[in-house]
Amino acid sequence: MDCLFCAIVAGEIPSRQVYADEAAYAFLDINPWHRGHTVLVPRRHVTDLLELPEGLGELTPAISATGRLLVERLGAQGLNLLSNAGAVAGQEVFHLHVHLIPRYADRPGMAGLMQRETGIDLDEVHRQIVGA
Ligand code: AMP
Repeated sequence: MDCLFCAIVAGEIPSRQVYADEAAYAFLDINPWHRGHTVLVPRRHVTDLLELPEGLGELTPAISATGRLLVERLGAQGLNLLSNAGAVAGQEVFHLHVHLIPRYADRPGMAGLMQRETGIDLDEVHRQIVGA
């Protein structure tokens, strides 16, 4: 199957790992809305949330751990979770994923979510998260 996120999980395409456990893999989004914007995916291929009858259950520990890690390491003041299901909802990669988007006081509220930061250095953000 030709799936970008399956290839990332398999290590065939490089990514900046944020968190991993037996069920999930989380990595920095290549085109972040805000510093530390992370994508979390199940290791097994599932198209979207609507195709997962059991819901996000198996991903919950990873979502929680990744969210806390991002907020603590980056000094964020908040976090948004978002999962797009279907092209009409904005899904572009058809392997279920949850966006974890750390939020900062300079761009507050839902309106601030859409105000993308520019010039984010992904390697620098990654070092700050993993402590390298
Ligand atoms: P969505 O629009 O919900 O399907 O989100 C897909 C996300 O995957 C977007 O935010 C992209 O920036 C992100 N993305 C696409 N390719 C990569 C990649 N190679 N590494 C990291 N993130 C990616």
